[in-house]
Amino acid sequence: MRNRRAALAAIAGAASLALTLSACGQNSEGGSEESGDSAKGGTIGIAMPTKSSERWIADGNNVKKDLESKGYKTQLVYGEDDPDQQVSQIENLITQGVKALIVAAIDNKSMNNVLQQAKDANIPVISYDRLILGSPNVDYYASFDNEKVGELQGTYIVEKLGLKDGSKNGPFNIELFAGSNDDNNTRYFFQGAMNVLQPYIDKKQLVVRSGQTKLNQVTTLRWDGGTAQKRMDDILTSAYKRERVDAVLSPYDGISIGILSALKSDDYGSKSKPLPIVTGQDAELASVKSIIANQQSMTVYKDTRQLAKVASNMVDALLNDKKPEVNDTKTYDNGSKVVPAYLLEPVAVDKTNYQKEVVDSGYIKASDL
Ligand code: BGC
Repeated sequence: MRNRRAALAAIAGAASLALTLSACGQNSEGGSEESGDSAKGGTIGIAMPTKSSERWIADGNNVKKDLESKGYKTQLVYGEDDPDQQVSQIENLITQGVKALIVAAIDNKSMNNVLQQAKDANIPVISYDRLILGSPNVDYYASFDNEKVGELQGTYIVEKLGLKDGSKNGPFNIELFAGSNDDNNTRYFFQGAMNVLQPYIDKKQLVVRSGQTKLNQVTTLRWDGGTAQKRMDDILTSAYKRERVDAVLSPYDGISIGILSALKSDDYGSKSKPLPIVTGQDAELASVKSIIANQQSMTVYKDTRQLAKVASNMVDALLNDKKPEVNDTKTYDNGSKVVPAYLLEPVAVDKTNYQKEVVDSGYIKASDL
């Protein structure tokens, strides 16, 4: 595993250079000397899950922009977290004759029929960020190293509690939250975090007072912050009458904000009752502000501008009869095939490095903070 990670990091480094170079090349080419293939100028369908989270709005806009800069037209649709609506949107895109599809699925298992329609119409499909399961008609997968996301969250918790360097022994109380059970990423995030946390739970240095430790006990349908808030409320009432919670594993910023609301209603954040460590993911504006205000502890930053580039480069390669660049051909078995993937590296961000990672890189504007 370690070697795979090291190799992956090296490849990702080289590839991001390649991405930068190819992006530059493209700018300098302007629109001149097009390759003349029939797909140029064609429309690419982009199906995103929801506008309720900033990251997906940014993903949609970035993919659109990248494809348009390569000479394609785009149709961008949002399924608003309703799997049926997303499927019918994709059916529409197929009927309209799109040349390729980029899909961030809402329910990864609901796509079989519609992807067969895509295949029949000879439309290649890129699974964007979330792997589509159970269908052979997924051509490529563009994502981040999802297990690493969870590892970064778990590692942050054990480091900040002092367990990792042995400066503290605990026991500390922790509660666990996971993402939506219909999103394939959920189990990778949770597995990555538990790889780090489980040994401390086994040694009773970490205690889950709610007793809810299995993935199917801790998922949060559609990643909904309100659902997470309610579950945290219930846990605080039932398992923390006198005890205090020291850390909460949260897989996503919207869930972290819900968890923090429940904690604050229970007086956490006051002098006598400090907030626990709360993790997150996506470097959403509200969470970066929360980190600066010493509430949420960290987030996992995934530069979705890079992800958009990877996906649009894949489309462009496919439509020009070239092989898209991949750096993982083993990890992502969707139950029907191992989908060749390009995985980017996630980065842990807290108050000490948010400026460098998310502001100086232009991901979030300083003025928005
Ligand atoms: C993405 C995460 C995101 C979550 C909720 C996952 O599939 O990988 O970045 O936090 O969905 O939108």
